[in-house]
Amino acid sequence: MKLLCALLVFVASASAVKNYAGYQVLRVVPHDMEQLQRLHDLYNLLQDTVDFWKEPTRLNQPVDIMIGPNLVKDVKLELSRRDLDFSIYVEDIQTNIDNERCTDCVNAKAGFNYNIYHSADEISQWVTAMATDYSIVTEINIGKSHEGRDIKAIKISSGGRKRVIYIQGGIHAREWISPATMMYMANEMVTNYGVDSAVTDMVDNYDWYIVPSLNVDGYAYSWTNDRMWRKNRQPAFSLPSCVGTDLNRNYPYKWGGIGASPNPCSETFYGDAPLSGRETSVVHKWLQRFSGNIALFIDFHNYSQLWLYPWGYTHDKDIRQPHKDLQHALAIKATDALKVPYGTEYFVGMSGPDMYPAAGASEDYGYATLRVSYSYIVELRDEGNYGFLIPESLIEPSGIETFEALKVLGNDPLPKGPPIPVV
Ligand SMILES: [Zn+2]
Repeated sequence: MKLLCALLVFVASASAVKNYAGYQVLRVVPHDMEQLQRLHDLYNLLQDTVDFWKEPTRLNQPVDIMIGPNLVKDVKLELSRRDLDFSIYVEDIQTNIDNERCTDCVNAKAGFNYNIYHSADEISQWVTAMATDYSIVTEINIGKSHEGRDIKAIKISSGGRKRVIYIQGGIHAREWISPATMMYMANEMVTNYGVDSAVTDMVDNYDWYIVPSLNVDGYAYSWTNDRMWRKNRQPAFSLPSCVGTDLNRNYPYKWGGIGASPNPCSETFYGDAPLSGRETSVVHKWLQRFSGNIALFIDFHNYSQLWLYPWGYTHDKDIRQPHKDLQHALAIKATDALKVPYGTEYFVGMSGPDMYPAAGASEDYGYATLRVSYSYIVELRDEGNYGFLIPESLIEPSGIETFEALKVLGNDPLPKGPPIPVV
C-alpha cells in the first residue's frame, strides 16, 4: 500500500510539470528606429500575455518572444501586420528542456558533481557540506523564504574582519546557470586557496558572501512544476490568484518606475510594496550588518552576456552617477579576463540607458541603497542559442570563464571613489 501511495504521488507530481511542447521563441531584430518603436508598442500591448525572454532594448539587439501553441499563429500575424520580420528562434521549447540535462554526466565524477544542475534541497545541503569540509567556509542561514525554505549563503574567509564582496544568484528562478555558476566558483575559491596565488589573495583580501539561490521557492518550483518560472511564489496581496513577485523589480530604490509592472499576473510584477517580497526583505535586513563595508555587489542572471552598472531605472545617461567611469573600467578588466578561456564576449554598459530601464532592480539597490561603489548586474551565457535552457555541458565553461572575472575583481583594491549621491 505504501509503495502504491508513493507511486501515485510520483505520478501526480510528474504529471504536474508543465509541458512546453509546441511553445516557440520568435526573434525580431530592429534595424531602424521605426522598427524599434513598433516593437516597443508590441511589447506594451503583449507584455502581460506573452513572455518576452528579451524585451526591446536598442537597435540591432534581438527581441525574443516565447509564445504558447494557442497564440503562435496570432502573434506571427501581429508581427507581419506591423511589418516586423521574425525568425523562429526556438522551434520547440520542450525539446530544449529535454536536451538540457546531460544524462551520462550523472556520477561522472567522485564527490559533488558541479557539471549538473542541482535541486533546491541539494544546493542547501551543498552549503552545509562545504562548511563541514573546509575550514575557510561558514554556512550562513539568512532566513526563511515565503514557503519556509532556508535562504543560505556560503561565507568564504581566511579570518579577521575584512571588506565584503557580496554575490547573489538565482533571483530569477528559471536562470539555472546562475546558481550552478555560483557553486562552481565557490568551489574553485575554496579548493584553490593556498594552491593558486591569485585565489589565495582574493580570499585573503576580502570576506566573500555568496548566496547561490536567493529565490529558493521559485527555483524549487521551476524543478517540480514549471521550468520557465521566473518570480517568487508569494501570492499578490492585491490579487491572490496571481502568484509571484519579480524580486528583481521589488528593491526599494525607484520602486514602481519604468520597466516594472503593477499587474500581479505580469512576469515583471514589482510586488505589493518595496521589499514586499519575502526573500528580498529577508536578505536586505541581513545585509544591514555590513553597512558601509561592502566593496562589491554582483547579482548574476542569464542570458545575454552583459556586465551592467547603475543606473538601471532610467533611460537618461546624464543623471549623476559619479562611479560610472570606475565601474566601467573595472567591468572591462573583468570581462577581458572572462574572454580568455573561450573567447566569450560580454557587453559592458550602463543598465538603463544602454539596455532597458528596470526600476527597483538589484544594481541600483546595491549602489544607492547599500551604497556599494561597485554594483553590477551580470547576464551570463549565452546570446540566445539556448537562452534560459543552457545545457549542463556548458556549466563548466561558464564557471571557468566567470571565475576568471571574479579573480580580477578579488585582486583589485576596489577604491571607494567619490561619495555616492542621494538622488
Ligand atoms: Zn534574470
